[in-house]
Amino acid sequence: MSRLDLFIDRMVSQRACLEHAAALVADMNGPAFELGLGNGRTYHHMRKVLDPRDIYVFERAVASHPDSTPPDDMLILGDVFETLPQALDRFGPVAALVHADLGGHDRAKNDTFARNISPYVQPLLAPGGVMVSSDRMYFEGFEELPLPEHAVPGRCFIYRAP
Ligand code: SAM
Repeated sequence: MSRLDLFIDRMVSQRACLEHAAALVADMNGPAFELGLGNGRTYHHMRKVLDPRDIYVFERAVASHPDSTPPDDMLILGDVFETLPQALDRFGPVAALVHADLGGHDRAKNDTFARNISPYVQPLLAPGGVMVSSDRMYFEGFEELPLPEHAVPGRCFIYRAP
C-alpha cells in the first residue's frame, strides 16, 4: 500500500470509529478525552458528533488549525505520562469516551508507546466507557469491539470498559 492509501484508511477509520463510539456512549454522562490534538481534525469531528459533551484535550505542544483549537480551560498541556495521572486525580474514572491518536510514522515505536500508555488510560474510563485508538492498546479486562462499517481493520481499534 502507498502512504496515501494508509493515510486515507486511517482518516476513514477514525471518522467511522468516532461516530460509532459517540453513538455507543450517547446515554452516558461524563466527558470525552482527546489524546493528541495535532492539526485538530479529529477534535473538530468529536465536537460535531459529541456536542454538547465536554471534551478535554491532552497535548504537549499546540499546533492546531485555529478552528480546531480548544479553549484554554479544556486544554491539558504536557506529556501524557504526566497529565493522565493528574487527570485521574482531578476527574476520577469518569470518561465516557477516550480517543487516542498519539503516534507518528514508525509502527514499532507506536506499538511500544501504546503498550506503555495503556495502563495510564485504562483507569480514566467510566464503567461502560469506550476507547478509540489508532494503535492496538494493551488493556486488561476490556472488551475489544467489532469495527463499524467503513473502518479498516488494523487502522483503528475500539475497546469498552466492563
Ligand atoms: N488526531 C490528530 C488530528 O486529527 O489532527 C492528529 C494527532 S498527531 C498524529 C499526534 C499528536 O500527539 C501530536 O500533536 C503530538 O504532539 C501529540 N503527542 C505525541 N506524544 C505525546 C505525549 N507523550 N504527550 C502529549 N502529546 C503527545
